[in-house]
Amino acid sequence: MLIDNHNRVINYLRLAVTDRCNLRCNYCMPSEGINFVKKDKLLSIDELKRVALIAVEQGIEKIRITGGEPFVRRDLMELLRYLSNLDGLKDISITTNATLIGPYIQELKELGITNINVSLDAIEKATFERITRRKQFETVYGNLVKLINEGFNVRINFIVLENQNEGDILSILDWFKNYPVSIRFLEEMPFNGGTKGFSSIKWNYKAILEHIRTVYPNFNKLEVPATATAINYQIEGHTATFGIIPSFSRTFCGSCNRLRITATGDIITCLYGKPKANLRTFLRNTANNSEIGGILKQVIGNRAKTGFEAQEEHSTVFDNSMTSIGG
Ligand code: SAM
Ligand code: SF4
Repeated sequence: MLIDNHNRVINYLRLAVTDRCNLRCNYCMPSEGINFVKKDKLLSIDELKRVALIAVEQGIEKIRITGGEPFVRRDLMELLRYLSNLDGLKDISITTNATLIGPYIQELKELGITNINVSLDAIEKATFERITRRKQFETVYGNLVKLINEGFNVRINFIVLENQNEGDILSILDWFKNYPVSIRFLEEMPFNGGTKGFSSIKWNYKAILEHIRTVYPNFNKLEVPATATAINYQIEGHTATFGIIPSFSRTFCGSCNRLRITATGDIITCLYGKPKANLRTFLRNTANNSEIGGILKQVIGNRAKTGFEAQEEHSTVFDNSMTSIGG
């Protein structure tokens, strides 16, 4: 079992499989001039399989595949097939922009992968395409509805962006009210590749909740596992639920059970901090699995207590993009 220096059990790995993406969401990366890493620095599928195996041997029970956009990796399904047969791994989840998932939906179902988070920051086509800087609304929306209709456990991630998509907060709740889906509103974080710092945001979780209350005064708070980052609610009469993720305010650190490994093998023990070690060289040299497991244990034994403490590792502006960290 992996236990950190603040007595938190770490059993959830967010594994990024690429830093590349076919969209250019303006809160995540700049429109151009992005320094994607050289291909040979990305972990190969065999290396990702090994990382997953070692992590599970050490006590990881849930792996979320993220990126970049996971499905831009043509060999992604090979990794997913492997994970679905990995003893000890109880949950495989994917976070995707849903542009490329269409042809794989059936196989994902066969593999028993049911938890899919889809990023959809607007229900209005023009707003969506302005934010993502690409014309993919119909494809994303079509795949999203297909996933829901096929019985996947779908959560929509909607980052609330000042002067961009506030108008869609209420309309997305209305649009999906009869669908078995969870809509999660996320506070924006300054991870867009280096132009923003942590100052304050207009759309914090209280503002989002108050905004929803103006039209839907009757909603109930739902029970969630202690390690959940979202605070979840259900509006009376709606099938859908909604949640708010205070990514910026960070009220969830006390129960954090997460570890992140980037597509280049960096180990990140807190989203707000800097990488603590890189596994790539160890994977490519002679280190055996227990030595690599030892590196995981070592960094987990030295975690910041909160995101605020970890943030001090940065100067005022974050140079990271979420596409390299994986969200
Ligand atoms: N491409 C996939 C997608 O968009 O779902 C997976 C990778 S993306 C980096 C993972 C998650 O991070 C997405 O839900 C995205 O909305 C979120 N994200 C990206 N930049 C963010 C930011 N600046 N603040 C908050 N969340 C962000
Ligand atoms: Fe790509 Fe996801 Fe970042 Fe959007 S949020 S640019 S889809 S990685």
